[in-house]
Amino acid sequence: MTAALIDGNLISKKLRGEIRERAAKIPSAKGKPPGLAVILVGGNPASQVYVSSKVKACGEVGFHSVLERYPASLSEADLLKQIDTLNNDPTINGILVQLPLPDHIDSKKVLEAIAPEKDVDGFHISNAGALMVGSPEFIPCTPYGCIKMLESIQYPLKGAQAVVVGASNIVGKPMAMLLLMAGATITVCNSKTRNLSRYTKDADIVVVATGRPKMVTGDMIKPGAVVIDVGINRLPDGKLCGDVDFESVKQVASHITPVPGGVGPMTITMLLMNTLEAAER
Ligand code: NDP
Repeated sequence: MTAALIDGNLISKKLRGEIRERAAKIPSAKGKPPGLAVILVGGNPASQVYVSSKVKACGEVGFHSVLERYPASLSEADLLKQIDTLNNDPTINGILVQLPLPDHIDSKKVLEAIAPEKDVDGFHISNAGALMVGSPEFIPCTPYGCIKMLESIQYPLKGAQAVVVGASNIVGKPMAMLLLMAGATITVCNSKTRNLSRYTKDADIVVVATGRPKMVTGDMIKPGAVVIDVGINRLPDGKLCGDVDFESVKQVASHITPVPGGVGPMTITMLLMNTLEAAER
């Protein structure tokens, strides 16, 4: 079997078209387009690429965006003050603080300072709690994108056996909650899981978000399973790869997401969707 690709660029293009249309209707109603503020502290090269892509995507769908860049020496107090200013800025509907932050800044404190109704990343504890009880307000963008990818192939999630490899607050845990809400039976694995393939080999859907390049291989996958690869890793030769070994898994799976061109563009698209929804509300 050679797996069909779930093309994140293609799905994103369609969704971004819908977002652009909905956004265009907002100015006449409220006098302004949706607005996103992106805060970058320090010069992490990967973060610089991510924030530029987010700001560029805003322009493409007609959003107003602001990119605030600060040196790594910015104090926590000054960052909190800036978030407070943005919380009170009526032209801004969504606020995103690019992670990771420098070590002297408490990320948890910063994420909690963003007004929940502007928390378009969905990382605020009240948004995480809302998802946990099945009444999501803002769904974290990466797992939101993964669910849209599963919807794109009309995968019947009810009763499906799903394994999420990785249990971070921003990907693995919310992913598990979304799959559970959709009626799947979930197993969540972490770095302490013994005999990982015992779980993955049984799964209809495998979502991998570990930050370990190519760690899930074809022999760990049930024939015909759907494999969603969240990982983005840069290899020594400069090429990007996922947490899934694409070459061996595509021989076994029915569907697979590529890296690049899979979950990455979907994450940005769902950030636009959350910002649009914040503006519409
Ligand atoms: P974290 O480092 O926060 O979490 C990694 C998780 O994977 C942890 O729960 C960890 O377990 C688990 N893990 C690590 N090694 C193993 C292993 N050998 N077997 C099973 N589980 C393991 O990472 P993130 O969730 O932030 O990111 C994961 C990946 O997704 C990265 O490659 C990142 O670049 C990518 N990413 C991609 C995005 C996109 O838009 N496509 C967006 C966000 C992330 P434990 O809890 O025990 O430590």
